[in-house]
Amino acid sequence: MTENAENMVEMDSARLRYEFKKMLERLEAKQGSGTELISLYIPPDKQIYDVTAQLRDEFGQCSNIKSKQTRTNVQSAISSILSRLKYFKTPPERGMAIFCGTVSTVGDRTDLECEIVYPPEPINLYMYRCSSNFELEPLKEMLEEKEVYGLLVIDRREAYWGFLRGNRIEPVNGATSMVPGKQRKGGQSSVRFQRLRLIAINEFYKKVGDRSSEAFLAEKDFFQRFQGLLIGGPSPTKEEFNEGGYLHHEVQKRVLGLFDVAYTNESGLAELVDNAQDALKGVEVIKEKEVMNHFLKELVKDDGVAAYGEESVRKNLEHGSVDTLILSDRLRESRLKIMCGNCGYSEEKTVKTEPGKTTKDIDLGNCPKCSSPLQIEEEVDIIEEMTTLADQSGTKVEIISDDFEEGSMLYSAFGGIAAVLRYRTGY
Ligand code: ZN
Repeated sequence: MTENAENMVEMDSARLRYEFKKMLERLEAKQGSGTELISLYIPPDKQIYDVTAQLRDEFGQCSNIKSKQTRTNVQSAISSILSRLKYFKTPPERGMAIFCGTVSTVGDRTDLECEIVYPPEPINLYMYRCSSNFELEPLKEMLEEKEVYGLLVIDRREAYWGFLRGNRIEPVNGATSMVPGKQRKGGQSSVRFQRLRLIAINEFYKKVGDRSSEAFLAEKDFFQRFQGLLIGGPSPTKEEFNEGGYLHHEVQKRVLGLFDVAYTNESGLAELVDNAQDALKGVEVIKEKEVMNHFLKELVKDDGVAAYGEESVRKNLEHGSVDTLILSDRLRESRLKIMCGNCGYSEEKTVKTEPGKTTKDIDLGNCPKCSSPLQIEEEVDIIEEMTTLADQSGTKVEIISDDFEEGSMLYSAFGGIAAVLRYRTGY
């Protein structure tokens, strides 16, 4: 989503998300030594000449800045933005954000950096801000899950509710009931006991309906984002609750289905999502779970077709034996092509990257042939590099988030790189 945004249009959404997340991490790591980093958000309907007029005004006001260094830095940032804006008659289709300023690099060196971001969604505010770091909140909000499901598990003793956001289950709250057990104490009349029990059940359902509805309706942009409610529990409790109309009518009419679950405490929410797979078909988490489960199933089979770890998966990719390449979106690694400038020796190597740090600081050592220092010839993000390899052999690529159990296992247990193979290989 930097200047080559056009090339990215063809990428799938998981890939775009990964790129966008990485870019935000990189900008977030930037620090100015004073209040001198400029963040400028321009919505699509803003006139460019209004923006340049304000920037010129800000430039003039810089004379009030006491520190000479800060003043100079802010002025160069504003000039740099102004010169870039010359290329725009109008803002791009979804607007743009510009981040510009003198940032600290290695040691006490600094560098004037200017980056134009073309966002995946329209920018809906105009903002000019000068601070010691970049203001990224409006872009981060674009990463928030747009589709939300409500989850509710209930039996007569307890209930719990929460949300399913993308891949993440977010527990919200629960309630327990005062409903007496089925056995009445001696001396109580059976009819009276049953009546009291029904009243208590009704009270409990009402409490759960009210409190959970309140939580669901409080969701930001409920009418656009709330995709539906899944209700879990034993029979006939969940049916009784659903048919009794205890939920707010806007929530009630969004009930997607009722599902059997054994637990009605917080852990029942995960069980509910697992059991509601059919109702959630097409939701990202279910697709990603299916990919991971396929891999794990192959892994434990005696004659299974699974591989993991960079080295093994890379060899399989090079031999065209990978059916599905599975990559964790937590991977922050680069593939380096390293060369000796003296004798032409070259090698490749994968290194971890950190936002705000550059691979140029890595000690590459010396050439094994002639002992001259080695240099980086080329650097490619590992996901991009492996995806390119995969494309050459018609391999499917799945980028998996680590927000759910199996996804987080992909990163921690398998190094973030795994594959389901077309046939068994020895790599
Ligand atoms: Zn050499």
